[in-house]
Amino acid sequence: MTTNHELFQRARQLMPGGVNSPVRAFKSVGGEPFFTERADGAYLWDVEGDRYIDYVGSWGPMIVGHNHPAVRESVERAIRNGLSFGTPCPAEVTMAETITRLVPSMEMVRMVNSGTEATMSAIRLARGATGRSKIVKFEGCYHGHGDSFLVKAGSGALTFGVPTSPGVPKANADLTLTLPYNDLDAARALFAEQGHEIAGLIIEPVAGNMNCIAPLDGYLQGLRELCTQSGALLIFDEVMTGFRVALGGAQAHYGVAPDLTTFGKIIGGGMPVGAYGGKRELMEQIAPAGPIYQAGTLSGNPVAMAAGLAMLELVQAPGFHDRLAARTRLLTDGFQSVADGEGVAFSTNRVGGMFGLFFTAEKVTTYAQATAADSALFNRFFHGMLKRGVYLAPSAFEAGFMSSAHSDQDIADTLEAARGALREAKG
Ligand code: PMP
Repeated sequence: MTTNHELFQRARQLMPGGVNSPVRAFKSVGGEPFFTERADGAYLWDVEGDRYIDYVGSWGPMIVGHNHPAVRESVERAIRNGLSFGTPCPAEVTMAETITRLVPSMEMVRMVNSGTEATMSAIRLARGATGRSKIVKFEGCYHGHGDSFLVKAGSGALTFGVPTSPGVPKANADLTLTLPYNDLDAARALFAEQGHEIAGLIIEPVAGNMNCIAPLDGYLQGLRELCTQSGALLIFDEVMTGFRVALGGAQAHYGVAPDLTTFGKIIGGGMPVGAYGGKRELMEQIAPAGPIYQAGTLSGNPVAMAAGLAMLELVQAPGFHDRLAARTRLLTDGFQSVADGEGVAFSTNRVGGMFGLFFTAEKVTTYAQATAADSALFNRFFHGMLKRGVYLAPSAFEAGFMSSAHSDQDIADTLEAARGALREAKG
């Protein structure tokens, strides 16, 4: 039998850090990653046959659980007709109709192949449409690895202590202005000074790359007003929140319409996909309708569209998001009472089907609080959970994801594991 350790030894010789995406390497929590052989429902099985209840869900897309029969069958039907055509295909039209129906602020949409592509394209559009160069992002928010975004970034960049990456030209970084998340006064001050030079403000409407932090009441509305007044475009990066915190995403949940929206992995149901879209007069400036260039050989790929459409069908079931939110609440309330029972300072955040666990007694609403929580304790807790068959995101700075495949029993088993793991971790 191949072991996780053997595979990781081989992988490290061949791939940077042994992985194709940094957080997978377990560098921040320590130890070595497991290698997944298969996944089904709420579970992953590694090459050694160990099963894990999975709260990462391929970092978001597995909202209906792994290997859902409807998604798999849709893909199986699609692949019989070929893998890629290089011409338009009918499923792209259905996908565009579905997205624009479910997310009304998106009057037109362009499919791409990752969240990174979606955000890079959205800011090019913001710059092209406004004739301005500066963009605003938030400390601890992650929008993929485009040069403009690796400035005070979250996710792996934050985990590994390089929020601003070498290789990003200074000239580029200088055009990215950063603000503290959930501080409307700071945003007002920046816009008062530089609003006329700002092409767009991009935000995760619920931050999911510095653990999970919800916007304070009125915060997104306040940003909407600042953008409208200054002529900057408001861009919601809904790569994590889209179709997850509500059917219509965070913009539906909070009732704030952005000018542009970016989506990623979730609309591919596990296939590599992203999308950006928004107001018609903006999107009509994209090539070939307009002069702002953006393209992709595999964009709108028929197999990816088939997976995404099947998944989007499932999340439209009546009550889907209410059930997902109720399940998430059961889990976070359960974690809280386990931690309280063990006398560990702990708090949680949750919005719809995403959640955050913090080793601090405070209610976390800022980046500073998230980074001040006890990440060493989180790392010990993470390994205690893993040992007990529960896979949480391998970093204190990532959100957790619930799926409709997680049963009450899975949640009860998770909480049982949490009791043991916490007892051990607190030392
Ligand atoms: N935006 C957000 C909010 C994300 O969470 C991510 C990735 N987790 C991205 C963009 C980048 O997406 P991708 O990894 O598909 O390039």
